Amino acid sequence: MSDEFQEIRNGVRALCADFPDEYFRTIDAQRGYPERFVDALIQAGWLSAMIPEEYGGSGLGLTAASVIMEEINRCGGNSGAVHGQMYNMGTVLRNGSRAQKEKYLPRIAAGELRIQSMAVTEPTTGTDTTKLKTTAVRKDDRFVINGQKVWISRVQHSDLMILLARTTPLAEVSKKSEGLSIFIVDLKEALGRGMTVRPIPNMVNHETNELFFDNVEIPAQNLIGEEGQGFRYILDGLNAERTLIAAECIGDGYWFIERASRYANERVVFDRPIGRNQGVQFPIAAAYIEVEAANLMRFKAARRFDEQLPCGAEANMAKYLAAKASWEAANVCLQTHGGFGFACEYDIERKFRETRLYQVAPISTNLIFSYVAEHVLGLPRSF
Ligand SMILES: Cc1cc2nc3c(=O)[nH]c(=O)nc-3n(C[C@H](O)[C@H](O)[C@H](O)COP(=O)(O)OP(=O)(O)OC[C@H]3O[C@@H](n4cnc5c(N)ncnc54)[C@H](O)[C@@H]3O)c2cc1C
Repeated sequence: MSDEFQEIRNGVRALCADFPDEYFRTIDAQRGYPERFVDALIQAGWLSAMIPEEYGGSGLGLTAASVIMEEINRCGGNSGAVHGQMYNMGTVLRNGSRAQKEKYLPRIAAGELRIQSMAVTEPTTGTDTTKLKTTAVRKDDRFVINGQKVWISRVQHSDLMILLARTTPLAEVSKKSEGLSIFIVDLKEALGRGMTVRPIPNMVNHETNELFFDNVEIPAQNLIGEEGQGFRYILDGLNAERTLIAAECIGDGYWFIERASRYANERVVFDRPIGRNQGVQFPIAAAYIEVEAANLMRFKAARRFDEQLPCGAEANMAKYLAAKASWEAANVCLQTHGGFGFACEYDIERKFRETRLYQVAPISTNLIFSYVAEHVLGLPRSF
């Protein structure tokens, strides 16, 4: 089925055709980073889709950007290697000063700089973000950063990172969401000057790390927006992130369904294609229905974001529905393939692991339930 984004879809698919399953399978086995693929995406301008034309990008919205991410996953790749650039760039664009935008956005659009990382999560506070303990203390024309982050992705393949840190102690603010600020960290400057990166081997081939900050000094002009308002700024970025990841799950979902349908038609057991058995075809049909339904909420969230309407509920619901649908499609695809689903050469076990992540990150399912219960349904806050 074609839609208004067909041109983008065709363009991304054409690029992805040069990176077949074997490419991603090999990178996964090596626990490598798809550098050649990411370079190709940057050179073709796909990762600067949301940068306004005046700064050298294409000036597209989140909806179009989400189609780019969807297509990468639909072609068998994993947007997890690159999606950070889309929403982190938006944080600078929406909340940065003119000088910050002029300094960074043209170079990001030209592919000279990557802004792939966002450091929010901490080991001792987890989802309870406003209690985070990393501090940024003003010292003349600099901020001094101390603390620790965990699960911070793509740091080793990025030049810049958005950091959320507390600038006013929790005890001194009237609302716990106040007193947090966001900064642009130039990773090359910070590394070796108090910042340490420790990679975390994990189930997915996702480059993610523990970060340690020991008196890391960053220029005061790297503060984004107003001091103390960082949590508010980061929320917008999180809505964009959730919507993009919903689109990636939709891409995964279609990939699983396409592979399951193809195999169910080809594989002959008991002298007939296994797909002739309703016990095989009904779960595939059910998974397809779920993906299609989730896709509606993904577009609703993306369009509301682009129209600058409140979209917290839709972004959360889209991420929930799409992550659930892609995971169900993954299960069905694996089951349809029987034993062969476990063989690496079919790529299903790889995509199965990749799509499972999105029930936990960037926000876990329970926290989405709690958001909807409190902010949409008016139920009492549970924590
Ligand atoms: C591969 C990977 C990449 C990541 N990349 C990044 C990144 O780039 N930047 C970044 O900042 N973070 C990143 N994260 C962190 C991710 O956002 C968190 O793992 C996620 O938000 C969950 O937080 P947590 O792991 O601390 O879980 P916790 O907060 O410890 O929660 C553990 C479990 O308890 C449940 N739970 C907790 N409190 C409640 C409650 N009140 N009610 C009901 N259930 C509750 C949660 O739903 C969850 O299932 C990444 C994580 C992974 C695994």
